[in-house]
Amino acid sequence: MSSRRTILESLRSDSSVSILIIGGGINGAGVFRDLVLQGVDVLLVDKSDFSSGTSAATSHMAHGGLRYLENGDFSLVREAIHERNLLIANAPHYVHPLPTTIPIFKWHSGLLNALLKFLGLINKTVERGAILIKIGLSIYDLLVSSNLTVPRHSFMSKSDSLARFPLLNPSMICTATYYDASILAPERVCIELICDALEMGDHARAVNYVSAVGAFDDIVRLRDELTGETYTVKPKLVVNAAGPWIDQVNKSLKRHTSFVGGSKGSHIVIDNQQIRNAIGDHEIFFENDDGRIVLICPIANKVLVGTTELVCDDPDQVCCTPEEVDYFIAMIMKMFPQANVSKDQIIFSFSG
Ligand SMILES: Cc1cc2nc3c(=O)[nH]c(=O)nc-3n(C[C@H](O)[C@H](O)[C@H](O)COP(=O)(O)OP(=O)(O)OC[C@H]3O[C@@H](n4cnc5c(N)ncnc54)[C@H](O)[C@@H]3O)c2cc1C
Repeated sequence: MSSRRTILESLRSDSSVSILIIGGGINGAGVFRDLVLQGVDVLLVDKSDFSSGTSAATSHMAHGGLRYLENGDFSLVREAIHERNLLIANAPHYVHPLPTTIPIFKWHSGLLNALLKFLGLINKTVERGAILIKIGLSIYDLLVSSNLTVPRHSFMSKSDSLARFPLLNPSMICTATYYDASILAPERVCIELICDALEMGDHARAVNYVSAVGAFDDIVRLRDELTGETYTVKPKLVVNAAGPWIDQVNKSLKRHTSFVGGSKGSHIVIDNQQIRNAIGDHEIFFENDDGRIVLICPIANKVLVGTTELVCDDPDQVCCTPEEVDYFIAMIMKMFPQANVSKDQIIFSFSG
């Protein structure tokens, strides 16, 4: 495995490379590893730390695609289940089955709406009641059944739910639990993909703190963010895997696009043992008052709370604002009204 300096110096003597990948998040890292395994010589660059962008700001979930059921997109659900199961199998040190519990507040709500949405006639959602959730999770189990990596769903009565989750909002009528998967450290999964590829030989080169800053003819200009030095590479193909920066990178490569709409989501991590003990190893997944699906889940011995979805045009400026913190505190209080939650319990926040 070559050092950063060696890789950069090698570009001075020979700037040709088969494929240049711009962006070392999960997509760039995955493409990098795939190509390297096929023997292609690839240069991966990231303007910052690898996996420091959106890939480090996730809800730490490997979703099995439950949400796509409402649109009747069964093939997408199957694909999501397949990919989630592959992650559980291939990265068992980071990805674990996650019991996901939905507190339910109504019995019949959402049935007609879900039918119309399934038929593609409307695109709004209303609060999902117990019957609808039962139907959804039963179909989901059927789709999972060909590969039972995780257990089937189950329902718990109100009294059993309160015994299991004592602080839960007592106005719920029952809970449903199905299984998804959690990724303890998504950024580590990304780093491992890159390290795995680098072990394949010198045709795999990866350097961080190197930005793609311009292009002319078939040459791409790179800048070492640590020294300011610039380098040129002559790739046969460029993969723009810059996530939310994709349009900025295209612009610097003289290709004008508007693929990314400009939104952000934030999370907070709170040190609240009362809630941590109350949820145990379960993610609590629910519809907030504004209709958004939000989560409160364990992360090591702390609690991860997310997420918002707000307009943000510049991915370099994303941060968790005081208003988002207020939103999170209110949603925790909705689900755990008797818990003592305060802003000084927030030990970390992140956005992407
Ligand atoms: C709030 C939120 C929660 C999410 N939760 C989940 C979840 O629980 N599970 C899930 O599977 N998905 C989740 N996602 C989606 C997931 O995070 C993204 O699909 C994924 O991380 C995108 O990865 P990426 O590699 O495309 O982009 P990124 O991870 O953003 O990587 C892009 C990289 O490009 C680099 N870059 C930018 N410009 C340049 C340049 N000029 N030169 C060199 N490098 C450059 C950046 O530094 C960055 O590292 C979530 C997304 C958000 C916003």
